[in-house]
Amino acid sequence: MAKILVIGAGVAGLSAGIYARLSGHDVTVCEAHSVPSGNLTGWQRGEYHIDNCIHWLTGTNPSDPFYSMWLDLGALGNVNVHNGERLYTCELDGKSLSLWRDIERMKREMLELSPEDEGEILSFIRGAELIERLNNVGGKEHNEGVTLGKLIAGAPLLVKYYRLSCGELAERFKHPLLRFFISSIIGRDFGSLALLMIVATFCSDNGGIPEGGSYAMAQRMAKRLCDLGGTLLTRKRAIRINRSENRVESVDFEDGDRLTADYVIVTADPDTVFGSMTDLPMPKDLEKCFGDERLFRFSAYHTAFACDTNKLPFEGDVLFKVPIKYYSRLKTDHITLREFSHEPSYAPAGKTVLGTMTYLSEEDCLELIRLRQTDREAYNARKRELAEITERCIVRHYPELEGKIHLLDTWTPASYKRFTYSEMGAFMSFALPGRKLPIPTTSRVKGAENLLLATQWQRIPGGLPTAATFGKTAVETINKLEKRKA
Ligand SMILES: Cc1cc2nc3c(=O)[nH]c(=O)nc-3n(C[C@H](O)[C@H](O)[C@H](O)COP(=O)(O)OP(=O)(O)OC[C@H]3O[C@@H](n4cnc5c(N)ncnc54)[C@H](O)[C@@H]3O)c2cc1C
Repeated sequence: MAKILVIGAGVAGLSAGIYARLSGHDVTVCEAHSVPSGNLTGWQRGEYHIDNCIHWLTGTNPSDPFYSMWLDLGALGNVNVHNGERLYTCELDGKSLSLWRDIERMKREMLELSPEDEGEILSFIRGAELIERLNNVGGKEHNEGVTLGKLIAGAPLLVKYYRLSCGELAERFKHPLLRFFISSIIGRDFGSLALLMIVATFCSDNGGIPEGGSYAMAQRMAKRLCDLGGTLLTRKRAIRINRSENRVESVDFEDGDRLTADYVIVTADPDTVFGSMTDLPMPKDLEKCFGDERLFRFSAYHTAFACDTNKLPFEGDVLFKVPIKYYSRLKTDHITLREFSHEPSYAPAGKTVLGTMTYLSEEDCLELIRLRQTDREAYNARKRELAEITERCIVRHYPELEGKIHLLDTWTPASYKRFTYSEMGAFMSFALPGRKLPIPTTSRVKGAENLLLATQWQRIPGGLPTAATFGKTAVETINKLEKRKA
């Protein structure tokens, strides 16, 4: 049995801690914040609960290999999973188009909307169905893998989407709503293969939302860690990893504590670790990602509103255009608005919560972070302005909501930076562009044989399954090292 110290209690850290206990190790997980969760979080504002993470959890379908990992981690199991009928709906010029869970319905809706786009529509749907099979969740029973013949036949299709960004794919469609749909759900700069993966995940009942949402899932994982005998310390921020020769000897904490361990697993944003918590260089393959000009980081600003009615004019997440005059202030041409009718407990009876999310580029994230650091008043004014414009846009699009929505909270990349310490408030890793495959990077750190990484940054574009997988991988690596020692 080894003594393992894990830095960070987001999904990666909780996963590392749980798998360490399942392998029989002694484990302590140290979290800088007052609660374990990282980005898998939510919070109360009066009688309202704001959920800030899961839109879809890949691996809620029992046929998917991730499912058993979520069971190990206590994330699924005795909880219902909400599989919405639709994930995203784009509305433009009085017409709407939804990403339906029923892929045939989505195909039909697309074809009715724009028969002249038939070729691209059928190709898009075929691509999603092929990916479903590659993930082993295809077919009616969700258990049909892809045959070699189908894979060979489908390869040119996958290459097509691998090469195209969402923006480039959108240009191939003639109908403006189809163009809006393809280019806006995850943004123009993401690779279109990433969009197809989302479609494939949701349409194969493999991207549901566990009951209780994000914060509840994080707390189930934290409970699982403690029930298994792991130790979880909060308000425990690591500031220095001490090394002698090629081994980590101890970790220093902000509160003056020093802890020792046989192995240290770091789950924090690598950009905050190498060159500050340790003088060791970042692993080469990861450093390459940080230096790759095609890869960019992103974050978002959000608002949440209390809504006096739960009878809403839309369902799921809806995307709609904002007036041109707001483009430069909002840094976008559209808003993504989300409702939570699947969780009545988030609001008093008859009411509900609405949330918005607007992606921001790295530059815009850094600008907001700098503004908060240098001029708090100006930063607060900027947040108020963003919230006011957002509210105006919602009411303009849905006049029936006039007077019924009231601001609960606004948060920005600066909030993410304060809450998770990530360098520029990023809550995923790099955006996955076209012509790039999500190849995993190493967990080992050259120069310290007992220091391991377990972060979502090790596979673009990050996300919950990636974070949990690398927590598990770090422990598997330790198990191999221990076996070799024995
Ligand atoms: C709005 C939003 C929507 C999302 N939607 C989805 C979705 O639908 N599906 C999906 O799969 N993913 C989604 N994600 C992404 C997902 O939340 C992240 O990929 C995942 O939570 C990352 O987990 P992590 O453990 O790698 O990192 P983090 O969540 O960043 O956790 C790192 C933890 O380490 C702690 N820490 C950092 N430095 C230190 C230190 N020095 N000492 C001690 N502790 C430290 C931090 O406080 C934090 O708790 C979303 C995220 C957001 C914000």
